Amino acid sequence: MNHLNNINLGEADYNELKKKYQGENLDIALNKIKEGYPVQYLIGNVNFYGNIIKVSESVLIPRYETEFLVDLIKKSINNNESLKILDIGTGSGCISISLAKIFINSQITGIDISSDAISIANKNKELNKVLNVEFVNKDLFTIDKFEDFDVIVSNPPYVSLTEDVGIETKYEPQNAIFADNNGLIFYEDIIKKVSVSPRVKHIFFEIGMNQKEEIENLCNIYLKDYNVSSYKDLAGKNRYIHIILNK
Ligand code: GLN
Repeated sequence: MNHLNNINLGEADYNELKKKYQGENLDIALNKIKEGYPVQYLIGNVNFYGNIIKVSESVLIPRYETEFLVDLIKKSINNNESLKILDIGTGSGCISISLAKIFINSQITGIDISSDAISIANKNKELNKVLNVEFVNKDLFTIDKFEDFDVIVSNPPYVSLTEDVGIETKYEPQNAIFADNNGLIFYEDIIKKVSVSPRVKHIFFEIGMNQKEEIENLCNIYLKDYNVSSYKDLAGKNRYIHIILNK
């Protein structure tokens, strides 16, 4: 197919794009993609863990590897349990919505500092017809502790401010990607608050590929009786952490 020759676009995405844009508008869309603009924003949704998730420039585009995090939670916790689960930095709401469908007896809360992200997450809640999830516009750093939550989940911004990232992230919300303290500020704040949160039993994190040791070190500093396990992605990098608080 001629127009796809020098453009990074798969056949399926091209077909989706053609449904949405015709004639001149299709050419404009293709030119944007040539400049590195994410095709997912043009199509307007992605598939995440079998769910349709609407996306806009206000949210990070859900990544395939984040499905592993959802799977890890699914395998680690009995899905009959009735738990309160907090998803910190929910963005599009992709993790919360997937968990809500797995843990049907549980109540999921997704928080995000961006009110635009929360309105997308709420649209995704409607689109996916899940009732056991609520989205709240809240900044993690204004919370003292996770009072009545049993499980904390987060795929926070974790790229250090000095790290070079690929062009594909240029159009995404930069505060969903970069984080202070070498990319560790969210992990440290969450772990610190868990240490004073009586109910929290599990923490699940997606992490950057060189952050495992530093996060284990933070656990050592702030937590008392716990077990930590890490998991690798398909490329063999440590990308997921599961902390169990023994109480
Ligand atoms: N939780 C969302 C996701 O995993 C957003 C993550 C983020 O913005 N850092 O896609």
